Amino acid sequence: MLCSACGVRRAKILQNHTSRKLCEQCFFNDIVERVQREIKRYGMIDQGDRILLAVSGGKDSFVMLDVLSQIYDPSKMGCATVVEGIEGYNRAEDLDRLRRYARDRGIDFHSIEIKDMAGLSVDEMVDLSIRKNIKIAPCTYCGIYRRRGMNEIAREYGYTKIATAHNLDDEAQTMIINILRGDITRLLQLYPLRIRPSKLFVPKIKPLRKIYEWENAKYSYYKGFIPQETECPHLWAMPTMRARIRFTLYNIEKLKPGILLELMEWFDSLMEKIYSEEKPKDIELPRCSICGEPTSANRSICKACELLLGLGIKVGAEVNQRQAIRIGK
Ligand code: SF4
Ligand code: ZN
Ligand code: ZN
Repeated sequence: MLCSACGVRRAKILQNHTSRKLCEQCFFNDIVERVQREIKRYGMIDQGDRILLAVSGGKDSFVMLDVLSQIYDPSKMGCATVVEGIEGYNRAEDLDRLRRYARDRGIDFHSIEIKDMAGLSVDEMVDLSIRKNIKIAPCTYCGIYRRRGMNEIAREYGYTKIATAHNLDDEAQTMIINILRGDITRLLQLYPLRIRPSKLFVPKIKPLRKIYEWENAKYSYYKGFIPQETECPHLWAMPTMRARIRFTLYNIEKLKPGILLELMEWFDSLMEKIYSEEKPKDIELPRCSICGEPTSANRSICKACELLLGLGIKVGAEVNQRQAIRIGK
C-alpha cells in the first residue's frame, strides 16, 4: 500500500487518529510540522532564545533533540542531563550516547550530579530515609533535585528557555490527575502561556505536548535510536494513581483514536477563552531563607531544603554556600 500523504513510497505506519497510512519520511515530516505549529501557536521560542533541552536516555528526549535541531539553530541550543546517583541506572555508556547524539547535531552537552547539588545522591537520600523511617518516595527527592539541577544549568550557561520532552500522554494524564484532585494551580500550569512564578525559574516549554507517546516510539525506532535499557530500580515507588490513569487513558484512546488530542485541544481553547478576558500576570515567589531559591507563597523554606533537613542533614553550611554561589547571592 502506498503512503496516504505522498502517494509514492510504501506506507509503513498507521496513524490511528487520522486514519492515514504513512511512509517513514511523511511520518517524520508530520511530527516535525506539528511540533513547529505548536511552537508557533504559543510563541514558545523567541528570536535569540537559547534553549536548554532537558534530556534523559529515553525516546521522548531523543525525538525532542532530533526535531528541535531541524527547526531551530543548534548553535543556540544545549542539552543537559541530571545524574541522579542511582546504582545500575546512571550508566556511563548511556551518558556517552546522549553526548554523541547532541554532538552529531552540533548541540552543547551539560550534566550535573544531584550529589554535587545536595551533598547526597538519590540512593543515599533513599537509604537515609529508610533508616530514619521517613515515608517519602524516592521520586520526590529525585524530582525536586532534577528540576533544580536543570534550572541551575540553564541559569549558569545563560539559557533563556528549558524544553522538556513531555508527550501528549504525559500531559493528558497530568490533566486528569489534577482535575480529580481539584488542584487548579497545577492544572493551569499545563497551559503553555502560564504565569512565571519567579525570575529565578527559567521558563519551560513543552514542544511535544501534542505528540502521542507511540508516535515518539515509532519516530525513534525508525531513526535508529537506541534507548536506555535499564529501568530505574525506584520505579516501583512511582505513584499508583498515574499508573492507573495511564492504563485507563490508553484503553479509551484505543477505543476512540484521537480522543487525547481532542482533550488537549479542548483544554487549550478553554484556557484561551479564560485568558482572553484577563491575561495572567507573572508573580514573584518569596525566597527560601536557607538557600535563596524560590519557595511557595506560604513557606519560609523550600521543599529541597525541607527534604534535607528531614533527613537530618545540616543545611546551611556547605550545601547552601554552593547554592548561594550558583544564584549569585
Ligand atoms: Fe527518579 Fe523516580 Fe524516575 Fe527513578 S523513577 S529516575 S527515582 S523520578
Ligand atoms: Zn509518504
Ligand atoms: Zn532552600
